[in-house]
Amino acid sequence: MIVVATREKPQAATDDVDRSPRVANRAAFTRPAEISSYEIVNHFFGLAAERLELPDDIAAVLRSSFREVQVQIPVRRRDGRIHVYSGYRVQHNGVRGPYKGGVRYHPDVELDEVRALAALMTWKTAIVGVPYGGAKGGVNCPADLAEDELEQVTRQFIQKIGHVLGPMRDIPAPDVNTNAQVMAWMMDEYSKSNGYSPAIVTGKPIALGGSLGRASATGRGLVYVIREAAPLIGVSVKDMRVAIQGFGNVGSWAARILTELGAKVVAVQDEHGEIRNDDGIDVVALDEHLRQGNHIEEFPGADPVPVMDFMATPTDVFIPAALGGMIHGDNAHLLDTKMVVEGANSPTTPRAERMLEERGITIVPDIVANAGGVVVSYFEWVQNLQHLHWEEREVNDKLGTYMRRAFREVQRRAHQDDVSLRVAAYEIGVERVVQAARTRGYI
Ligand code: NAD
Repeated sequence: MIVVATREKPQAATDDVDRSPRVANRAAFTRPAEISSYEIVNHFFGLAAERLELPDDIAAVLRSSFREVQVQIPVRRRDGRIHVYSGYRVQHNGVRGPYKGGVRYHPDVELDEVRALAALMTWKTAIVGVPYGGAKGGVNCPADLAEDELEQVTRQFIQKIGHVLGPMRDIPAPDVNTNAQVMAWMMDEYSKSNGYSPAIVTGKPIALGGSLGRASATGRGLVYVIREAAPLIGVSVKDMRVAIQGFGNVGSWAARILTELGAKVVAVQDEHGEIRNDDGIDVVALDEHLRQGNHIEEFPGADPVPVMDFMATPTDVFIPAALGGMIHGDNAHLLDTKMVVEGANSPTTPRAERMLEERGITIVPDIVANAGGVVVSYFEWVQNLQHLHWEEREVNDKLGTYMRRAFREVQRRAHQDDVSLRVAAYEIGVERVVQAARTRGYI
C-alpha cells in the first residue's frame, strides 16, 4: 500500500498581514504564523530593491530561482508500508559562487519555504563575504524517523538530486533535523557515482573531513554578533539575561557559549514545552537531559511555565532558534526584551517587526546573526579542497573575524541610510549580488 504524504497548501498572500488567529492552547500558540517564510523574505527583498532603485526586470530576476527540483522519495517504513515523501532542492542564485545551503527534514517542508530559504542564503553569503550562491533543500518527512528510515530517505534524496550537486556546483549542509551523520550518508551516496568527494557536503563528521568548530559554528557566530551588538542595548554579555526558543544545534550552542561568558539563560522552549528559572538554567545539564530522551518540562533545574509566560520572560536578549514565523502579530506584544537576535531563519514576520520596532526593541536579522554556519561550512570546503586540517582555535578566530566584519558593515550602513539593521543587511547583500551579476554579464 502506498501512503502519500500530504500537507495543506499555504494560503496565497496579498499583503504582509498575519492571519494567525488569537490562540488559547499551546499547540496553536507555538505554531508559526500563517504568513509564510516566502512572503517574509520577499517583503524584505522588496524593501531593499526599492531603496536601491533596482529596475523591475532586474528585481524579477533576483526574486526568482535559477533552478527548482522536486523529487519523489518512496520509503518502506517499519510499519511495512511504503510512504512517499517529496524532496526539494532550490538553487536561487549562483553568480557569486557554487550554490550553498542546508537540507531540512520536517513535515512542513514545501516548495515556497525552500525557495525562501534559498534566497536568504544568497543574501547571507554575500553579506558575510563567502564565495557562494544561495540554495536550500528539504524533505517533508516526519521528524521522528528511525535511523534506518532516515538513511533511506537521505540516500534516495541524493540519488535523485545528485545530478544538480557538485563541489563546484551545489554543496548541501545540515539544517533542522539533519546532522553530521546525514551529511556522511549524503557524501557516501554522492561518492558512489562521482568518486571520493568530501567537498560535496559540509557539516560532516570530523572523521570524514568535517571541520573542527562546524557543529558549534552557528551558535558561536550568534554570540560574536551579540557581543558586537551589546552596546546598542547597554548591557554587556556577562550581565545578560537571555531566553532561547528552540534548543537544537543553534539554540543549545548559543546557550552554552553565552553562559561560559557569564550570561544567564533564564527561559528555554522547545517543540514540547517551556521552562524558566530566573536564577539561570544549567544549559549543559539541560542538553544532557534532552539527549537522554527526557521531556524538557521534566528538567529538575527549572520550572515548567505556560507558553505565554515563556514569551513574556523579562530578558535582555531573546533568541529565536526554532522555525520560521514564530514571532508574529499575535505574540510579539508579549516579548519583554531589549534585543531579538535571530538564530532561526525568518522567525519574525514583518508585522511583528513593526510592533517590536515601535517598542524600541532592536532586531539583529537572520541574514547576519546566523551566518556563522555557512562561514565555517566555507572553511570546511576550503580545507577539503586543499586537503588541510585547521585547528579549532583557528576556525573559531577566523569565524569571529567574518562575523564582526559583517555586523559592523551592516551597522554602518544602517546608520548611514537611517534604516533598520535588516534593511541595511538586505541592501548590502542585494547590492553585492547585483554587482557580480552585472560584471558576469547576466543582467
Ligand atoms: P535543530 O533541528 O537542531 O533544532 C530545532 C529546535 O527547534 C529543536 O529544539 C526543536 O525542539 C525546536 N522546535 C521545533 N519546533 C518548535 C516549535 N513549534 N516551538 C518551539 N520549538 C520548536 O535545528 P537547528 O539546526 O538548530 O536550526 C534551528 C533554526 O536555525 C532553523 O530555522 C534553521 O534554519 C536555522 N539555522 C540553522 C543553521 C545550522 O547551522 N544548523 C544555520 C543557520 C540557520
